[in-house]
This record gives sequence, structure tokens and C-alpha cells, in this order.
Amino acid sequence: MDLVDRFFPDPVKHRTFRALLCFAAIQSTYKGPYTAGSAFCLVYTMALNGSGGLMRRVRGGMGSLSEALGRSITANGGEIRLKQVVKRIVIEDGRAVGVELRSGEVLRARTVLSNLDKPATFLRLVGDEHLSPSFVDEIAAIEHKGAWVHLLFKLDGLPEYGGEWASLNRDVHARFGGAMVPDPEQMQASYEACARGELPEHSPIAFQIPTIVDPSLAPPGFHIASAYGFFFPCDAPSAERGRLRDAMAEKVIDRICEYMPDFRERIVERAIFSSDHFAAMHGATNGDFTHGLIHPDQMLAARSVSEGSAHATPIAGLYLCGAACHPGPGVTFLPGYGCANEVMRTQLS
Ligand SMILES: Cc1cc2nc3c(=O)[nH]c(=O)nc-3n(C[C@H](O)[C@H](O)[C@H](O)COP(=O)(O)OP(=O)(O)OC[C@H]3O[C@@H](n4cnc5c(N)ncnc54)[C@H](O)[C@@H]3O)c2cc1C
Repeated sequence: MDLVDRFFPDPVKHRTFRALLCFAAIQSTYKGPYTAGSAFCLVYTMALNGSGGLMRRVRGGMGSLSEALGRSITANGGEIRLKQVVKRIVIEDGRAVGVELRSGEVLRARTVLSNLDKPATFLRLVGDEHLSPSFVDEIAAIEHKGAWVHLLFKLDGLPEYGGEWASLNRDVHARFGGAMVPDPEQMQASYEACARGELPEHSPIAFQIPTIVDPSLAPPGFHIASAYGFFFPCDAPSAERGRLRDAMAEKVIDRICEYMPDFRERIVERAIFSSDHFAAMHGATNGDFTHGLIHPDQMLAARSVSEGSAHATPIAGLYLCGAACHPGPGVTFLPGYGCANEVMRTQLS
């Protein structure tokens, strides 16, 4: 807020800007906008050169990116094995020499790259016995939290803005979505409620109807919508979190209905995910898709686990290539690009 106050000090005239910048500052943290260190995430969100921030859309949905990457790998003679769980990284004489799948099959390799987060890579797949106690402590201390719910909807038509927003209906692209964000003080109070294990009163929401720009994502006559609600009390006791997730989803839908009153009645199907789902289905520590929150003490050089390299690890032949390493999370391809270059330079020459 020190930074936001400096450029947008007027709570009335700058209300929307202040709220949007606050959301950008907290959306991949476990902080409120008044918590020290939140400016780092604001800079990270806005900084990607020329893109206007990290939010971009891919025709056909995000899966088409993975499919394109897959086509490129197979076209270059690579082989992809889908739905194979790696049980452990095989270490021989202190060096990573391959992976063992859940089926028991061992795939040997000169170099092993992991795009899992650091606790998943080192504590689950490598194992403490191959690591120094101080390194194990360092990895265990990284802050991983998933204070979010993600909602996906199938709608039987395009919802309309109501009330003071109704004039936006004239331009269909205005219905694509955006952020529905409370004032900074409400956002801070919501963070503090979340940290106490309670549902937030005012959850900031990122909302989209991507079928407006890409109708291929739904059958004719239907739309899909996605909402990301923040400050889910991810530290509440696990037995309570299913109920809290569903209650938070209802609050998110109510909030969308404040802008689009017919939204709820247009829902024909819904899926609600929290970080617990992401942890169980994708092995992300505490369901943290950032693989280590965007806090200043976890970014830049602090993301590295090996002196002088963003990707090398204390285990020879094992490299990090995903969001856990520099420069960090988001669909940027930058961690993989940096890792590939380092491996080519040091391992294959
Ligand atoms: C709800 C939500 C909204 C987001 N919004 C945005 C956004 O708007 N913009 C943006 O840029 N980013 C966004 N992100 C973040 C982005 O998705 C991540 O930063 C990015 O996917 C990280 O990529 P990665 O390849 O490093 O790791 P991941 O995408 O986490 O990939 C790791 C993969 O490893 C697999 N895996 C895990 N354990 C094993 C194992 N033992 N064996 C085999 N496979 C395993 C997992 O299934 C997963 O496929 C969002 C994420 C979520 C969850």
C-alpha cells in the first residue's frame, strides 16, 4: 500500500486502480496489501515485458499449449509417457541416473529434469538420505500455501450485466470479465480472516467468460466461465475445508451476481476446486501452484538451491525446470528455457 498510496492516493477518485493493484500484489502470496513484502508480487504481475501482465489467452484453452509442446517433442524424436507417476528419482553414487515409475519400471537418463516443486522433488522423490540435514531444513522452510478456490461453469447462455453496469452489455467483449475486487482495507481484513482459518467477507475474484473470444471451448449456445476466488482459509483444519470450499464458492457466485444478476440461473454445470484438489491430483505441496509463493525472500537468488545457478541442484545430474526455480511461476516458459540452456551448455557439450 505504500507504493499504491504514492501513485494513487485518492480513495474515491482512484478507487478502482487501488483495488486492482492490491489484487495484483496479493494474488500469488499469503499476504494482504498492507503486509510488508506484497509489492514484490505487484511488480512480478505487471513486469513481463510487453505483455501487459501475465494474463494471456490461448486458443483452444490451456491444454492446447501442452499439446503444441508435445507435438514439438515427438517431431524431434522424443517420446512422451502420459499418466505415469514417478515414484522416486534414482540416485547412484550421489548422482541422478533416472526415475522409477509407480509401475516399477526404471527409466535411465544422463540428466533428470524436474518441474515439480522443491519439497516434492527433494523430500518426496529424492529422499532425505541423499541430502544434507541443512538442505532438508532449507527446503522444508519454503512457504507453500494455496489460499484460493477455482470455479469452472458451463452456462446455457451469455449472462448480462445489470443495474449501473447494464450499458456494458452493448459491447460483447466487455462481458469477457475482469477482476471483482474489494477496497484495500476490506482485502486486508479478508487476508486476516483467512489467516485465522475463517471465510473472508470480501474475496477478490478474477472472472472470465473465455468463450466470448474462443467459442470452440463450448457447444453452440453454451458458454464456459471461470472464477478464481482468493483468501480461501487453506490453514483451517482439513476436516472443515470441504465445507469452507463450498461456502466460499457460493459467496463467489453471489459476488458475480452483483454484477451479472442472471449468472446463477444460467449455470448448468459447475466444478469447484481448492488447493487441496491441486495437492492431491498434481502433487503440488499444499496445493501451491506457484511452487513457492511470490514473497521477496523466496524470489530472485533465493529461488536457487545451488550457488551460481538457477537450475542445478546439490544432486549431480538433477535440475529444476519449473515454477520452483527462477524466474518463478506463471505460464511463461522461462524456467524451462533457462534450464534447457544450462543443461545444453554444461551437460551435452
Ligand atoms: C487456478 C489457477 C489459476 C492460475 N492462473 C494463472 C494465470 O492466469 N496466468 C499464469 O501465468 N499462471 C496461472 N497459474 C499458474 C500456472 O498454472 C503455474 O505457474 C504453471 O502451471 C507452473 O508450471 P510448471 O510446469 O512449473 O508446474 P505444474 O504446472 O505444476 O506441472 C507439474 C506437473 O507435474 C505432474 N506431477 C506431479 N507429481 C508427479 C509425479 N510424481 N510423477 C509424474 N508427474 C507428476 C503434475 O501432475 C503436473 O502436471 C494458475 C494456476 C492455477 C492452479
